Amino acid sequence: MKIENVLNALRQNKMDAYYVDTKEEARALALSLIPEGAVCASGGSVTLTETGILDAVKSGNYTYIDRYAPDLTEEERADAVARAHHADVYLMSSNAITENGELYNVDGNSNRVSALVLGPKSVIVVAGVNKLVPTLDDAILRVKTVAAPKNTVRLACATPCAKTGHCISLDTGHGTDMTKGCASPARICCNFVVSAQQRHQSRIKVILVGEALGY
Ligand code: SF4
Repeated sequence: MKIENVLNALRQNKMDAYYVDTKEEARALALSLIPEGAVCASGGSVTLTETGILDAVKSGNYTYIDRYAPDLTEEERADAVARAHHADVYLMSSNAITENGELYNVDGNSNRVSALVLGPKSVIVVAGVNKLVPTLDDAILRVKTVAAPKNTVRLACATPCAKTGHCISLDTGHGTDMTKGCASPARICCNFVVSAQQRHQSRIKVILVGEALGY
């Protein structure tokens, strides 16, 4: 896959698209896209941690809505999730990005895909080149064999994929059927969102990084 093709496809889909070589450049670029004093929120993302973007946003001249703050009550945590939908800037990664310039994201709680679709004025997506896939079919397979299993391990979810490293749909005759999978209460594959051509030009900004980042 040529990075330039992906960038052009994202731009045709009315997203801004950037490429940088390193996580340090990604951090600097992401911060340059956030107005001073902006209210920021983020989806759960290893990429945002690995790039240092999350720390920079928490410590910079912004108001960061931190739903992970350890001292929050359940009510306060739910309130933080709700307020994130009114943030000026929402930061996240993407489970996969296709050569057609589509973002593919699968969520359990779905606060992340919800904010991606509607709410925050600006959405900054930071993704390593390991997230690039040729097609949506490859994106589905990527979530079933990489993103979901690794995230269920990270989040200590008792799902089949956390034990085997792949979605149970691949063992039960359902193959890569997008929505098939486990019936675990901890299932993280509940809402499947493809972000294709946008109505709002430049609301979504994608920073591709020439390193492997996150899952
Ligand atoms: S449906 Fe269940 S087993 Fe399949 S990837 Fe998602 S959490 Fe894992």
